Amino acid sequence: MSYSLSYDSQSRLVISDVHCTCPLEHKEITEDIYVGEGIAKNIPAYIRKRNLGTRCTLVADTNTWALAGERIADSLTAEGFDVNPCVIRREGVMDPDESAVGEVLLAVRPQTDFLVSVGSGSLTDITRVNATRLRLPQVCVGTAPSMDGYTSAVCPLILHGCKIHREGKCPEIIVCDIDILKTAPLKMVCSGVGDVLGKYIAKADWMISALVTGETYCPVCGEIVTDAVEKLLDNIDEIKSRSAKGIRILTEALLLSGMTISIIGNTRAVASVEHNIAHYWEMMQLIHGKKPPMHGSSVGVATLLAWPLFLRFADEDISHLDLDKIKAQRITREERVRWMKEAYEEEAANSIMRDNPGDFLTWEEQKARIEAAQAHMNEIRSVIASLPPLEKIRGAMERLGSEMTPEECGIDTKLLNLSMHCAKDYRTRYTLFKTLDELGLLKDYLADYPL
Ligand SMILES: [Zn+2]
Ligand SMILES: [Zn+2]
Repeated sequence: MSYSLSYDSQSRLVISDVHCTCPLEHKEITEDIYVGEGIAKNIPAYIRKRNLGTRCTLVADTNTWALAGERIADSLTAEGFDVNPCVIRREGVMDPDESAVGEVLLAVRPQTDFLVSVGSGSLTDITRVNATRLRLPQVCVGTAPSMDGYTSAVCPLILHGCKIHREGKCPEIIVCDIDILKTAPLKMVCSGVGDVLGKYIAKADWMISALVTGETYCPVCGEIVTDAVEKLLDNIDEIKSRSAKGIRILTEALLLSGMTISIIGNTRAVASVEHNIAHYWEMMQLIHGKKPPMHGSSVGVATLLAWPLFLRFADEDISHLDLDKIKAQRITREERVRWMKEAYEEEAANSIMRDNPGDFLTWEEQKARIEAAQAHMNEIRSVIASLPPLEKIRGAMERLGSEMTPEECGIDTKLLNLSMHCAKDYRTRYTLFKTLDELGLLKDYLADYPL
């Protein structure tokens, strides 16, 4: 199992020669992903190479317009493109809500050939959902290495004050000009690092799932992500100083993680229970009319919270479990529905349960998983032992000046405690939190988070 990573003469990042023993289909990446210093000037050439047409709507907000949008619009115009700018103006932060999505939709003229987004997460997503619905190609120009969503195929958006996910597609062209990205505030850089550090948990969960549930683990995708995260961990000071080298390493880690989504067609390699916790915080803060934390920062903090459970489980002896007791502790389907509505509130609970119908096990299914966990406990221990020391992760975040606690992300104790208990319920995707729950251990592991 192997892959190779290279850049072509135009700064295009290429993953090639993917050889993997797993039975998943490994798609070749057809998007053009460019990373380099000063490459924004090549955008007209990148677009022509792909024959996207000449008429575009360029989406930015007032910040990203001043940072890069206006310059890109001018260079496109000078090269003969017809550019229709859509600059979104908001007091403070722009939310990716129906108003922003609608604004882009109304700005797009009937004869548009493609859309250009100039921004980070939210601007990419409000453009992505429109590009997908309008069946137009998208050129994404990143302005901050703050999350791994540039290559994503879903759009996290806000509708009626609730966080929703809509289908999207990966932009045809992604341009990450390091000269632009390195001007991002340190807070956004910390967020990007947090999103990347979460991949350790995602990988451990995926490998444990392969042992307990038989889910297919893709070693190549696992390796692509691990190589990128390790490189990032070894270069924290470069990242902190926002040197070209540091920002390139962070940007590559975010893009390479995202590229595994295109290779295997899902987010298994990049998101697990740490993302469940972070999504929950974002979702609940919005529902309660509070400011949601930055995505990657909350992923980083959630990673620090989930990690000790893995370490504790590695020392657990599960060879003599009291199966009758575990069976007696099971909640009924009705109790689970009540719990979901208590934890996620009516609307979100209903949509999560609708999207994850397999998320209630019969006793036979639970028992089979318990037996699989018992049979593979040594391998589970090796998976956990392959994680780097938690102190290394914590130290990296401290050195950067990242948020370290839920409190620093604006999350109060009540929400934190609830999030730890319902993180296992956010989706069917198997995580160690599910293992602990199914083995009857989770309540004890979460004793520090009383409900
Ligand atoms: Zn993320
Ligand atoms: Zn594979």
